[in-house]
Amino acid sequence: MRSKPNILVTGTPGTGKTTTSAALAEATSLRHINIGDLVKDKKLHDGWDDQLECYIVNEDLVCDELEEIMEGGGNIVDHHGCDFFPERWFDRVVVLQTENSILYDRLTKRGYSGAKLTNNIECEIFQVLLEEAKDSYKEEIVVAMKSDSVDDMNSNVATITEWVRTWSSTN
Ligand code: ADP
Ligand code: MN
Repeated sequence: MRSKPNILVTGTPGTGKTTTSAALAEATSLRHINIGDLVKDKKLHDGWDDQLECYIVNEDLVCDELEEIMEGGGNIVDHHGCDFFPERWFDRVVVLQTENSILYDRLTKRGYSGAKLTNNIECEIFQVLLEEAKDSYKEEIVVAMKSDSVDDMNSNVATITEWVRTWSSTN
């Protein structure tokens, strides 16, 4: 049994996973693991996908890399997918959600256009990540959180921080 919880922060690109995870790591002193950065830094991929403009994540390599770290507990994992991690890794799965027009602005600011932009907006409209999370983890550990504004983010961080405190004192 781990003494600190592992939390997965997931959601469509642009919903605020990295910003929220970083703030949460500050507040809780849990370790923020950004899967995108890890994949790049440790070359846990099978090359670059020209069409999707992203690395082709090697899911086995990522899981091998993280197994021991996750066993130790105390991690915030930040990723836009959630179906390939072992279910036993996580005590809480947070799915961030953002209103379409707001997400659209964030993604265009990030330089997304064309198919990449529409795919991500559709991903959010159809709640793909929420469905994926519910399919992959027990429904009672999955929580959707609105991430439209800075106020939303602060309140999400406060809520999760309180949950971590409670979890740590009862486990
Ligand atoms: P993700 O990691 O999910 O792709 P980021 O954390 O990189 O998203 O956030 C994308 C952009 O949106 C950043 O410029 C960030 O500052 C902004 N942002 C993220 N969450 C919020 C929020 N709740 N309110 C306002 N701006 C936000
Ligand atoms: Mn990110």
